[in-house]
Amino acid sequence: MIADAAIARVAAREAERFRADNPRAFAHQAAATGWFQSVPFHWMKDWPSPVPIVAASAKDATLTSIDGRTYDDFCLGDTASLFGHSPPALAAALAKQAFEGLSYMLPTDRGAALSAKLSAMFGFPHWQVTTTASEANRAVIRWCRGISGRPKILTFNGAYHGAVDDAFVDLKDGAPVMRASLIGQVHDLRGTTTVIEFNDAGALAAALRGGDIACVLAEPVMTNVGMVQDAPGFLETLRSLCNETGTLLVFDETHSISSGYGGHARTHGPMADLMVVGKSIGGGVPCAVYGFSAAVAERMAALNRRRPPGHSGIGTTLSANALAITAMDVMLGEVITPTAYDAMLRGAARLVTGLEREIAAASLDWHVTQVGARVEFLTCPVPPRSGGEAKAAMHPALEAAIHIFLANRGILLAPFHNMMLVSPVTGDDQIDRLVGGFADCIKALKE
Ligand code: PMP
Repeated sequence: MIADAAIARVAAREAERFRADNPRAFAHQAAATGWFQSVPFHWMKDWPSPVPIVAASAKDATLTSIDGRTYDDFCLGDTASLFGHSPPALAAALAKQAFEGLSYMLPTDRGAALSAKLSAMFGFPHWQVTTTASEANRAVIRWCRGISGRPKILTFNGAYHGAVDDAFVDLKDGAPVMRASLIGQVHDLRGTTTVIEFNDAGALAAALRGGDIACVLAEPVMTNVGMVQDAPGFLETLRSLCNETGTLLVFDETHSISSGYGGHARTHGPMADLMVVGKSIGGGVPCAVYGFSAAVAERMAALNRRRPPGHSGIGTTLSANALAITAMDVMLGEVITPTAYDAMLRGAARLVTGLEREIAAASLDWHVTQVGARVEFLTCPVPPRSGGEAKAAMHPALEAAIHIFLANRGILLAPFHNMMLVSPVTGDDQIDRLVGGFADCIKALKE
């Protein structure tokens, strides 16, 4: 156990150290008054440091700040740069595309090549492009409701699928509630979103057998409430209950693409009817895709034939622009390869071994979870089996103290829980520095 007083002491000491080490970040913050609360996007306030580190540049898995500090980057843009910052092939292709037009509202030959690559990697025959994973999830929900004629979706407690209204329903003491932190939410979504705990096969069967759920929208492994692994057989049960009840199954693989080449479903099974993947497939250029089976494509085409011409409520002007298509085509062709995954999984295994060794050496009852190249330490003794258990196990003050301690030693973790990403270009020396910093932090917390 780590005492609350120790957490407060470490957090205060590290905040002071951050202040001394990052004068330019403070000056930047003071000058950036044009931005609301001094940041261009409010999530950038979520870091545990007194002010955000201000980035100057990033390459591979190293980020440099305007204070001249370098960081071993295990945040990697919260997955957008999972395959390393600015891979040379991507940078070169983007520069070339910049001289050839960036957005035409027309298909390109490169796009045709990309759809074949998506099919080869993820196993779905048909694809559509959006600008963010949030948007892809919203599109998929709309399609599923449209083709099934059913009003509801089902999600799992604690899930995050982006800025998607329908997915913001949680369980509190077993009852559905709107996520309290939402801004400006005026519609009560509980009539059209059913929420149950992940790994609860009984609740799943009861919900799906009602026959009014268009789709289950799920990460095959939960990654946004800490990590919650699927219990043995749960995904197979989910698949067969969807088949039995005519419910569409959507896997959002935006994060679980870390699991292996092709994503979690392709490498661990079973497959969904539709999938969403965003962020990393453009290497940091805004883009996402959703893929679907031939059977779903037929139903979508039939719906298109039935509906009157006009707005579909799906897509935005910049969807599938030439820059995004180029980015994904290069990423899938040259960067996101089986060889890259070999390196990521090797690095992640090294990280897991190191963290587990230090946890054991300190006699802490913490544990480490892994979804391929995505690793997380949880400061609780038993791996959570549901979002509810994961939320109960979170310790935000302890997390913040660890994060700022590591940041002050040149190691960057994502500001959300204890997620660490290993890219194909993350060096063993970087992984070893993270493990060493983690050990030093535990020592400081136990003093
Ligand atoms: N799905 C999952 C599983 C995610 O983790 C996220 C973002 N963290 C999204 C969708 C949304 O991605 P974006 O913010 O790029 O729209």
